[in-house]
Amino acid sequence: MPPRVRSAWFRTLGQLALILAAAALVGVLIRHPWQVLTVAALGVVAWHYWRLRKLLMRLTARQRHTPPLGEGTWNELDRLLHRGQQEMRGRKRRLIEMLRAYRAAAAALPDAIVVVERNSQRIQWFNEAAHGLLHLQHPQDINTPVAHRLQPLQISRWLASGRNAEPLEVASPWNPAITLSMRLIPYSENLWLLVARDVTRLLQLEQMRRDFVANVSHELRTPLTVVHGYLDMLDPAEHPDWAPMLAEMQRQSQRMTQLVEDLLTLSRLESADHLPAEEPVAMSTMLSTLRREAMALSQGRHEVSVEDSAGVDLFGSGKELHSAFSNLVGNAIRYTPAGGHITIRFRKDRPERLNSGAMAKDTGVVLEVVDTGYGIPAPHLPRITERFYRVSTSRSRESGGTGLGLSIVKHVLNLHQARLEITSEVGLGSTFSCHFGAERVRPREPLDIALP
Ligand code: ADP
Repeated sequence: MPPRVRSAWFRTLGQLALILAAAALVGVLIRHPWQVLTVAALGVVAWHYWRLRKLLMRLTARQRHTPPLGEGTWNELDRLLHRGQQEMRGRKRRLIEMLRAYRAAAAALPDAIVVVERNSQRIQWFNEAAHGLLHLQHPQDINTPVAHRLQPLQISRWLASGRNAEPLEVASPWNPAITLSMRLIPYSENLWLLVARDVTRLLQLEQMRRDFVANVSHELRTPLTVVHGYLDMLDPAEHPDWAPMLAEMQRQSQRMTQLVEDLLTLSRLESADHLPAEEPVAMSTMLSTLRREAMALSQGRHEVSVEDSAGVDLFGSGKELHSAFSNLVGNAIRYTPAGGHITIRFRKDRPERLNSGAMAKDTGVVLEVVDTGYGIPAPHLPRITERFYRVSTSRSRESGGTGLGLSIVKHVLNLHQARLEITSEVGLGSTFSCHFGAERVRPREPLDIALP
């Protein structure tokens, strides 16, 4: 017990003892000790009830009162309650201030923020920017269904995917020059945050970057062709001293030409949001072409085998698919030491599990390039498809790599709604698998006879 409370307690007990002693004394003097003692005890009880009532009145009045001054237990109790009340008020004030500050910060954000009730999908709250970007009006739009309010944007299906909703990029219906990027963030059991950001400037910068790379590559093409042409005309036999120099110049100009070609391919793929021309792609022809290319690149240093168990064709752009697959095959040869084995496999994919739990009837297909080469350390795998990302720069340069091959593969696969999976173990080899969905599969043309 704190000393202050203890002394108040002893004081009250002392007062009680004094009152009872005085009452006993008076009682003895007037010869009615029990009556006087009873009256005194009743008086004490009455006084306590009166203090209890006073305290209850004070608490229920909900008004600020000054802290009591006396020193008994009742005053101490009153004082403690008063202190508790003061602390609670302070805490409440601080919480309200914090809440106001959060609201002000959310309201001042440049991104549109809309709080949506999960089940009814009705708007609960939105900030200033939501008025500018999404044309929401306060207070009319509070409690209206968000999909209905944001029409003509078609976001019902997107909202329905809830937690799994991918960020959505759409042209603003109120100003087609503005592109909005919308994200759905579930932040509590029954509330979602719909965040819309104006990404027009970002997209413009991205476009500028792409145009710049494409223009520079295009401009470099002609001078490189000229240099390359003149280098080809120089006969090393006529200038034996220059032979190693000429060979190196030729190698480097070839690398630069390849780099420019790869950059142009990448720019073209990046700016396309769909494939220009789609057609059935004869896979047995494709596989034998890949085999031929692999053997030419390997020049007998590797064993190359082709396995074709899928027995179907693909639907897409034959040219782009060939460029992607031959990049993978080229890498397998270049990053596998002599004596290694390269397998080009075209097989059916494992059936996917549907939302209902059943297995999908139509399966996709996988084109896999397996090598027994150097392998890739696991920390590099997530970044391997980035432009110019190399595990070993010297090995890549030595083997004539541009650092753009896997970026090209990823873009080509994206345009085919396919995905690249890479598994690798250092010293054992790597597997690059291109997974195509069932919608990209076509029955094999009977005339498509495999070339030997
Ligand atoms: P590069 O032109 O350098 O080969 P890529 O984009 O094709 O560029 O590949 C990026 C990097 O990934 C390469 O530099 C290499 O380090 C690694 N890599 C790609 N394929 C393989 C493979 N089959 N085995 C081992 N490493 C590989």
